[in-house]
Amino acid sequence: VPPPLAVAPVAGPTGGGAPGDSFASLEEIARAVSGCTRCRLHEQRTKAVPGEGSPGAALVFVGEGPGEDEDRLGRPFVGRAGQLLDRMIVAMGLQRAEVFIANVVKCRPPGNRDPLPDEIAACRPYLHAQLDLIRPQVICALGKFSAQTLLETKEPISKLRGQFREYRGTPLMPTFHPSYLLRGPERSPDKELVWKDLQQVLLRLGLPVPPPRARRSAP
Ligand code: SF4
Repeated sequence: VPPPLAVAPVAGPTGGGAPGDSFASLEEIARAVSGCTRCRLHEQRTKAVPGEGSPGAALVFVGEGPGEDEDRLGRPFVGRAGQLLDRMIVAMGLQRAEVFIANVVKCRPPGNRDPLPDEIAACRPYLHAQLDLIRPQVICALGKFSAQTLLETKEPISKLRGQFREYRGTPLMPTFHPSYLLRGPERSPDKELVWKDLQQVLLRLGLPVPPPRARRSAP
């Protein structure tokens, strides 16, 4: 994993790059997100979830949006799905602190409904600013919603996964969401597909694929 990169200010949520409207660091973005009222999702959130991880991460995971646990704690992927994501990261031979974990929207949609188009549009500049600062080598989109939103397509995740696409010039691998994999033993074949996707990510990062026996924490 490369060392943290020197960062230049990038355009803020209004996109204009006006004084006071640019982010020089992930911390600045997190502060702006925590107080953000740009869309209706701020009304019912407990805590905004800006995202967390290494500012020099070679790999960024992007999910849909915070769930109940994430909303309570202000951290991404900390519930059951988050624990599975942690195991996936460890199975890759990485640590959670080495990657960056973000979401398409930073506040929990009520009842875990899908974010609406205007909410995604309002929040998108934060994700873009994060990606512009981190400049990852690979993005991994977790789940149908994240993949379809980032790639602006309605193709099913079963068709999208397994092949690199491009998002704003960065290779993007769509794969199944950890919460989908938790829906029962019938998802075991899909876990194997996720592991194949993650192996492709490792190869693209130039990192070794851990041998099967080392994958005690495999997804
Ligand atoms: S979801 Fe994004 S745009 Fe909407 S209030 Fe939260 S941080 Fe702001």
